Amino acid sequence: MLTAPALERRGVRAAFLERGGGVSEAPFASLNLGFRTGDGPDHVLRNRGLAVLALETPRFAVARQAHGTGLVRVPEEAAGAGFDDPADALGPADILATSASGVPVAVLVADCLPIVLASDDLLVAAHAGWRGIAGGVVPRAAAEFDDRAGVTAWIGPAIGPCHYDVGPEVVAAVERGSGGGAVVQRRGGKLALDLRATAARALQAAGIRDLEMTELCTACAPERFYSHRRDGRTGRHAMVAMRA
Ligand SMILES: [Zn+2]
Repeated sequence: MLTAPALERRGVRAAFLERGGGVSEAPFASLNLGFRTGDGPDHVLRNRGLAVLALETPRFAVARQAHGTGLVRVPEEAAGAGFDDPADALGPADILATSASGVPVAVLVADCLPIVLASDDLLVAAHAGWRGIAGGVVPRAAAEFDDRAGVTAWIGPAIGPCHYDVGPEVVAAVERGSGGGAVVQRRGGKLALDLRATAARALQAAGIRDLEMTELCTACAPERFYSHRRDGRTGRHAMVAMRA
């Protein structure tokens, strides 16, 4: 798993689980943490159990993600919501916010950006693909904080511009709605969207300056990461974060 040392300074434990170490078989091999994939629910349940064992956290709460900008608050009573059964997931929402200690929240991804924002008393986790970013999910997540200069942000592994050719309509939508404009690379007449740099710009535009991110591309490393763009039918990673 990948950890986020920047967040530890804020009293937040956060980890992105890579695909190894689980019980699922191809094309979900092996630590698939998403129910809505076509994988057997018994496999997903066992993998989630293995994940929290490795993380040394209680069961995490998840939301039904919708590539939108909806936000759910996760009080102590909602701890572990949707962990065992997707019918009990929170939302629909792509942002989870909690100020409770010892209540982990998770976003599920396979190419989309997992973003975690933390102040000394609030934790916000967001799932952000191009649709969410075009809809304004980054400024919406940032708006949960009154003092954005005091927020630390972390962005985990996601699809890189090396593997993310998009049409001009996608760039236009992101340009309009992201809050900071689209970061695009042009290669031989093709457009590639840099989701991570786009989100970083939106965070900065929202007043968040303390930002750390990994440059790892999910589509570049099939042995470590699921990639929906690369494989279609595939598993999901979880980015899990908890206020200590
Ligand atoms: Zn790549």
